[in-house]
Amino acid sequence: MVSIASGIIIDTFGQLREDENKMNSDIKDKCFICGQENIIFERSSDGSSSGFKNHLKQNHYMWNYLYYIAYLQWKDSQYFSGIKSYVNKKIKDKDMSWISFGRARELVKGEDEQEKQAKQMEQSSVNLVQQLTHSNDIISALKEKKEKKKQHFLQQTQPTQHKEQIGSQQSMALL
Ligand SMILES: [Zn+2]
Repeated sequence: MVSIASGIIIDTFGQLREDENKMNSDIKDKCFICGQENIIFERSSDGSSSGFKNHLKQNHYMWNYLYYIAYLQWKDSQYFSGIKSYVNKKIKDKDMSWISFGRARELVKGEDEQEKQAKQMEQSSVNLVQQLTHSNDIISALKEKKEKKKQHFLQQTQPTQHKEQIGSQQSMALL
């Protein structure tokens, strides 16, 4: 009986420890606002800025969201602009869709950059194909020119050979 009770206690503590570790990992390695993981920002960062820390401090600074909510509650709603009215209505309806879950400006920028690089690569391959085609044209033209010169040279040399042959035949006949 004691062993069953101690087993249940150990299992329960093990589960609690696992849950706490998961919670700490979420706090440390995920953005509170968008929920994106640390490693995604570090991969997309160009090295000039520390991706995840920079994201937490500038783009998704969670306290700014709290200040904004407090500001909307404090300010008279008749002075709200379009965006403030929109967010205020969402907050009153308990709708959190105005917060960018799963989206971050830096990551969208990274996708744009990848798209740009893909387009540049495509353009450079098109340029390469054009250059190769042009080179082939030049090579064909040079081959044609060489062939013409060869033909011209053969036409020039054959009559002289013929003349030489005739000349040698005449000289043989004279002898
Ligand atoms: Zn974020």
